[in-house]
Amino acid sequence: MKTRTLLFSCLALVFAGCKPAAQAPAEKTAETAAAPTPAKSGKPQVLVANYPLQYFAQRIAGDSVEVRFLAPKNEDPAFWQPDEAAITAFQSADLILMNGAGYSKWADKVTLPESKVVDASAAFANNLIEVRDASTHSHGPAGAHSHNGTAFTTWIDFKQASMQAQAVSDALVKLVPAAKDAISKNTESLKDELEALDDRMSALSRRLVQHPLVASHPVYHYLARRYGLDLRSVLWEPDTALDGTALSDLNAILAGHRARWMIWEGEPSKDSVEKLAALGLQSIVFDPCGNVPASGDFMTVMKTNVEAMEKAFP
Ligand SMILES: [Zn+2]
Repeated sequence: MKTRTLLFSCLALVFAGCKPAAQAPAEKTAETAAAPTPAKSGKPQVLVANYPLQYFAQRIAGDSVEVRFLAPKNEDPAFWQPDEAAITAFQSADLILMNGAGYSKWADKVTLPESKVVDASAAFANNLIEVRDASTHSHGPAGAHSHNGTAFTTWIDFKQASMQAQAVSDALVKLVPAAKDAISKNTESLKDELEALDDRMSALSRRLVQHPLVASHPVYHYLARRYGLDLRSVLWEPDTALDGTALSDLNAILAGHRARWMIWEGEPSKDSVEKLAALGLQSIVFDPCGNVPASGDFMTVMKTNVEAMEKAFP
């Protein structure tokens, strides 16, 4: 773990910030306005910190609860700042599913009812990755941020994702004991799928260790640790224009790290793909899916990610 921490600590290039790919800024107003709408279902209210937890909770609980994810689609939920109405919704929820690993920066400054809060990463809290010396970068409504502190994209280690699903399941059983049987069955099915993804990525490990990789944004720490990726990172977004500065910073990494592949959070532009190809790098998308995907769901996105890796490293 120490080696991996050091590896990620020397990321020095500043370009842009984190945002989920391919989401229109215009969506923000509508989403934010919709957020405080009070629930009318009469079902227990489950508030979640990010999209993976929304997906887990909905799959596990079915329609026995109402799952609400309030972050706008065009923002990274990790750096989102909820407005007062959204904070009130969290404070009056029956269950609050937090990602843990320092994910929701806003929660440090807000008092939440402790008895309602579940840290989905608690089972592996002693095995989180600390990032140091990551540069601050900014764009979008959330302002400047850095990836210093605890790495928080916990669920792209699919073993950890499975543990998070179990934590969600345990909390839901306590909330709606009458639905226990359905919850158990749904949990097993979800965990089976997550563990199948874990098996497929683990099977790739032996080949992956032989291929130095570059990531477009420093969000792959847990993926790298579990599946043996030799990964360095720049701070690009899928829509970052690869100008001379961007490319010279990439070249500085490539000088000591002969990568042939760059991993992106979303589909890069044709121009970026061509510029990277000229440097001998191919592009591959592994979408962490922290927010709602443009199409499909958490599981289809993760299956597409793993298939892309299998194709790249046959
Ligand atoms: Zn970032």
